[in-house]
Amino acid sequence: MRIDLHTHSRASDGTETPGDLVRAAGAAGLDVVAITDHDTATGWDEAAQAAAEVGIELVRGMEISTRHQGAGVHLLAYLPDHTHPGLDAALDKILDGRTSRVPAMLDKLREHGIAIDITDVRRVADGTAATGRPHVADALVELGAVADRGEAFRTLLNPGRPAYVDRYAASLVDVIRAVTDAGGVSVIAHPWGRHASGEPGEETLAGLVEVGLAGIEVDHQDHDADDRERLRAIGRNLGLVMTGSSDYHGLGKVDHDLGCNTTSPDHYERLLDLAAAAAARSGRPTPEVLRP
Ligand SMILES: [Zn+2]
Ligand SMILES: [Zn+2]
Repeated sequence: MRIDLHTHSRASDGTETPGDLVRAAGAAGLDVVAITDHDTATGWDEAAQAAAEVGIELVRGMEISTRHQGAGVHLLAYLPDHTHPGLDAALDKILDGRTSRVPAMLDKLREHGIAIDITDVRRVADGTAATGRPHVADALVELGAVADRGEAFRTLLNPGRPAYVDRYAASLVDVIRAVTDAGGVSVIAHPWGRHASGEPGEETLAGLVEVGLAGIEVDHQDHDADDRERLRAIGRNLGLVMTGSSDYHGLGKVDHDLGCNTTSPDHYERLLDLAAAAAARSGRPTPEVLRP
C-alpha cells in the first residue's frame, strides 16, 4: 500500500489542476493520496470527482501557514470541516495576508529594476485561491528575469533578499486548536525543513502535543537521513503519528515526485482513527476519507 499525504495543486502553488493531480497520483501507482493545498479547500471537490474516476483513496486536507516562537511552521490539517467559523476565519486572514503582500513585492522588484506588474502575476496564477510568492516567482521566470522558481526565491524573494516582504502569520497554537475544533487532525509538515536541524525540538513538540498536535512529517525531502532518525526517536517518545510524503508541486518543485516518500499503513490508520475521534467530538460535518 503506497500512501502519500502531502501534495499541491493549482488551487495553491502546484502546477496541475486538482483533477490532474489525482490522476497523476493514480498513474504513479499510489493507493492513497492527500490533497493539501496551502490555506485552502478550494481544490477538494474537483479532486474528489477525479478520485472516484481513478479509483484512488483520497484524504482531503490543507497545509496552513503559521508561526511559532518567531519561526514559520507549516501545519498539515487533515479532514477538518473547513466551514467551521474559527478555521474559516483563520484561513481568510492568512489568504488576505498573502494576497496583499504581492503588490508590495512588485514595488520592490520594480525598485530593483525588474519591469513586472500585477497582470504578469495574474497570468501565471490562473485558478489560484490566493496569489503569493510562488506566483511572483513564476512570473519572474516567464519574464526571463530568472531561470526557475528556485533562483527567484534564492536571489529575490526569500527573507533578506531585495524583494522580500513580511506578512501576517497565524499562531500555530491557535490554528492547531481551530483544526481540532473543526474535527480535523494536525501534523507538522517538514518540521526541520526550513530551519536549522533540531528545531523545533522535543520540548517544543511536547508542548504542542498538549494543545492537540497529532503528528509530524518525518520522511520529507528536506530532511536528511540523520534528521529523519532523530525525528523518529522524538516521535516515538511523544507517541506521535509519523508520516512520509512527497510535498509534490507538479513542475513547481523538482525532486518531489509523487510517492518519493510514503506513510506506513499503520501510521495512516492511526491518523484516521484520531481524525474520526476528533470529528465525533467536534460534532461538525467533516469530510470522509473517499474510498474507491
Ligand atoms: Zn510546506
Ligand atoms: Zn507543501
